Amino acid sequence: RYNKKYNFAAGPAPLPESVLAKARAELDDWQGQGYSILETPFSSDRFAELMVQAKMRLRALLNLPPGYQILFLQGGASAQFSLIPLNLLPASGKAGYVDTGHWSARALQEGARYGKAHIVASSRSTGYDRIPSPHRWSLPQDLSYCHITTNETANGVQFHADPDSDDIPLVADMTSEFLSRPININQYGLIYAGTQKNLGPAGLVIVIIRETLLGRARPETPRVFNYESQIEAGNRTNTPLMFAIYLVDLMLKWLDAQGGLPAIQIHNKHQSEQVYSVIDQDDFYHCPAQPGHRSVMNLCFGLASESLRQTFLAEASERGLLNLSGHSHAGGLRASLYNAQTDAAVSALIDFMRDFRNRYG
Ligand code: PMP
Repeated sequence: RYNKKYNFAAGPAPLPESVLAKARAELDDWQGQGYSILETPFSSDRFAELMVQAKMRLRALLNLPPGYQILFLQGGASAQFSLIPLNLLPASGKAGYVDTGHWSARALQEGARYGKAHIVASSRSTGYDRIPSPHRWSLPQDLSYCHITTNETANGVQFHADPDSDDIPLVADMTSEFLSRPININQYGLIYAGTQKNLGPAGLVIVIIRETLLGRARPETPRVFNYESQIEAGNRTNTPLMFAIYLVDLMLKWLDAQGGLPAIQIHNKHQSEQVYSVIDQDDFYHCPAQPGHRSVMNLCFGLASESLRQTFLAEASERGLLNLSGHSHAGGLRASLYNAQTDAAVSALIDFMRDFRNRYG
């Protein structure tokens, strides 16, 4: 009865049908050269132009002011947990971390291997249910940077304003919300995002860095991961993730066609508000994240018992509603509504959640 499949995965996550169709069609022949992007030399002008074009699209979408550089690197977002300290933190230095959930904790744990890690603020004692108010952050002046995770994929909390970290460079992991809303880029010294949520394939990470932060890398930083050497080499120190960059370029074009970030933010908010209102209707479902701190991308919620959760997942799956299980560390249920999530999927989820409550509530 339910032929349509709706994917609510936290990442890799759904891509627009039009983007997949274009990529499929161009696998036979990219730009009339008789072979695909997968078979194209990375040193070719054609590929160099693609990379320049993708960066220009990204600059335009983000309204990126002069003085920032964009890099497409390998190793996903997790590699940046180590590469950021290697590029920005002296061996005797200290870095600040705002501890808001699973992913910020991972960044902190890894960062602590390269220097002193100072916890600027933490919501651990309240079960990572909120973003600690920036007014109460502890920001000693000797921090080389302050790291935040703007959207906690596993815990479902999100910064809804760009925080102020005084003169300390703000470094932000935006993996699970990148390009989902306009941001004030001037607040940030460095932004990074793995692309497998909002933009395409896994493995690629986009790093946007303020130029004044370049030139601080430790000598042992691998050359392919040294921001400055990669910029000097036109981001082609080694073979870049060409197919991933190609897909990101298609996604950037798609985002632009949706009306850019202000329009995509309205779309995303509308979808998430619809689902949160079903969760909040009574106490059948509950949401661990505090109102005002909840993620627009990853909606975490729970039910009264584990057996009810299992029944929910089994029945949802029968209806084609897939990948609704919570993160292995957070438990519960989670619906991820990234940029490409369709209204049809959201409607189908809401109908199912209401029906499930009527039958088991
Ligand atoms: N940061 C955040 C916020 C994430 O959600 C993820 C992946 N779920 C990562 C980092 C790690 O990304 P990767 O698997 O690309 O290393």
